[in-house]
Amino acid sequence: MDDIKITGLRARAVNVPLQYPVKTAVGVVATSPLVLIDLLTNAGITGCAYLFTYTPLALKPVQQMVEELAAVVEGMSLAPYEIGRVLQSRFRLLGNTGLVRMATAGIDMAAWDALAKAHILPLVELLGGTVRPLPAYDSHSMDDVELAVKRAHDAAQQGFTAIKTKIGYPTLEHDLCVVRAIRDVVGEGVQIMVDYNQGLTVPEAVRRGRVLGEEGVAWIEEPTLQNDFAGHSVIRNAVRTPVQMGENWFGPDEMNKAIAAGACDLCMPDLMKIGGVSGWLQASVLAEQHSLPMSSHIFQEFSAHLLAVTPTCHWLEKMDLAGPVLEPVIEFKDGKAHFGTEPGAGIIWREQEIERYTV
Ligand SMILES: [Mg+2]
Repeated sequence: MDDIKITGLRARAVNVPLQYPVKTAVGVVATSPLVLIDLLTNAGITGCAYLFTYTPLALKPVQQMVEELAAVVEGMSLAPYEIGRVLQSRFRLLGNTGLVRMATAGIDMAAWDALAKAHILPLVELLGGTVRPLPAYDSHSMDDVELAVKRAHDAAQQGFTAIKTKIGYPTLEHDLCVVRAIRDVVGEGVQIMVDYNQGLTVPEAVRRGRVLGEEGVAWIEEPTLQNDFAGHSVIRNAVRTPVQMGENWFGPDEMNKAIAAGACDLCMPDLMKIGGVSGWLQASVLAEQHSLPMSSHIFQEFSAHLLAVTPTCHWLEKMDLAGPVLEPVIEFKDGKAHFGTEPGAGIIWREQEIERYTV
């Protein structure tokens, strides 16, 4: 194949509505702030990816950070490894974390998408895998009983065999009330994961975690502060339910430290924070070496392609944060994600909707 060169980089900021606000124990995400990236090439191929900035406050800075990097990548070959090395060295002194890592991860994703399109292959096949359905769970919020029951019912009706609910209500009794209400609706045939979003102290997490163990929940996610690996390890050793974490690891090096501290039984790196496709591939090797089942965190379109080449592939999280501005390319049925019909990662913009939600 000809040496394809990068000719431009575009970043657009949108703030799109959510069907359900993402309510957590530590705050609410009411709308979905996204930076949409287009990596242009001299072959007429455009690589696409989006970043989720959690809060609209970070939208403009991330957009600008991506655009500033145009000057670095323009003229480079469409070679994600090479691009990554150059970007990494540029930020050695500042530190390749936070908004910088988000921006560089977005460029990495867009570059991989463009490369797969250049080969006219779904990303999973470019990475050496095959298109296959993946187990997916439906990811819910801190919805309280009434809405939790409705969403659990809907998910079970749609064929999901696992759902996640966010808890961390003021009392353990309240947590139990929600989990039991969901169990009543879905029965024993559907797994229930719970997510505390870092909301508890270590002793409180041990107290609640021991009781939740009796409810048969499938995992307890981020029971305490995400950077407290030692605290996670204490909780993990005290409860019988597997401890899940990873969505806040900025890079495989943080994952490595969490593993060394014995912080978790399961892992779920976030595609963006871990460093894009390239960062994910490194993380998947770590997960395999330590026998950690690996799930995804949001970014369902790209993550599907990557989980399919992850040796310890566990669950795809279905949480649709970009739905309004994307053509739907994943079909969820029988508890599985069916994907891979398009070249690349399947990021296809709905331009009219982008215009509508542009910030
Ligand atoms: Mg979580």
